[in-house]
Amino acid sequence: MSKSSKVNVMTKNPTTFSRRSLIRAAAAAGLITPQFAANRAVATTADATDFRAELGTVQITRRGPVTLHTYMASDQSSLVTSHIVETADALYLVDCQFTQSHAAEFRNYVDSLGKPIRQVHISHPHPDHFSGYAKNFSDVPVVTTAKVRDVMKERWIDSGRIEDLAKAIGPEAPETFVTPEGNVALGASDWGGVSVNILEYDDAEAQVHSVVHIPEAKTLIVGDLAFANAHFFPLGNNANWINVIDEMSRIEDVELVLCGHGLPAHPGVFDDSAAYLSVLLVALKSETADEAIEMMRTEYPAYGAKGILNFINRLYA
Ligand SMILES: [Zn+2]
Repeated sequence: MSKSSKVNVMTKNPTTFSRRSLIRAAAAAGLITPQFAANRAVATTADATDFRAELGTVQITRRGPVTLHTYMASDQSSLVTSHIVETADALYLVDCQFTQSHAAEFRNYVDSLGKPIRQVHISHPHPDHFSGYAKNFSDVPVVTTAKVRDVMKERWIDSGRIEDLAKAIGPEAPETFVTPEGNVALGASDWGGVSVNILEYDDAEAQVHSVVHIPEAKTLIVGDLAFANAHFFPLGNNANWINVIDEMSRIEDVELVLCGHGLPAHPGVFDDSAAYLSVLLVALKSETADEAIEMMRTEYPAYGAKGILNFINRLYA
């Protein structure tokens, strides 16, 4: 492990005129609300840890009683994130990466903080958020809500789809997959003396999503219900996803949003996400998948995780 600490420079997505005008046109057509806020990342500072990430990056934010660490994978792994809620005495993790390389690096970073890991909470039943668990966190309880667990088990583990995925990603897949305990209740919970509120939303990017609200830190950890400067997974219920974003954006007194893909963001990421989905709904009316993909690339030229757009092909298959 290197001794030098890594200072992360937050990047800001330039908002192009054409994108703004398209969003205005979508708003005029009643597709989205007219107020549009650019996705502003929250400035962070490097912490005292001497860990240097080689594959991903780490963003650290101190808020209220907690320090929040976001490990973000490289673009090859679609900028997928894992978060650490660091309390006075312990670490509470949310999601644990897709590839084994990123998960191993994330684990090394977690260990560099020198506090016990109480649990890994899985935000939603998509393997880019839980596949890294089995090999790298098997000594730590893995938990989620009953609904997230049930969907994960049914759609990925019991169906055998997870094995097809493992074949597809080869050495970056774990040897086995682990189903979490579905013992996380909705509502108030205590994470190392810090009050958190567990929320759940259905039928958006995934069939079900758990969201962690930390009121004292004015923070929401939303999984894939919002993306920050990264292309969105397009196979969910995109229309209802916009409704879910609207609902989340009404949660009061939130200043920091930790997304499932991309850097820590300002709540303006909700407007950005709703606008992106409105554009996606228009793009998916294209004659061909190639046209739809091209439209999204053109409208969001600075967005990362372009590989995610390939999932659009499935909608045209
Ligand atoms: Zn994801």
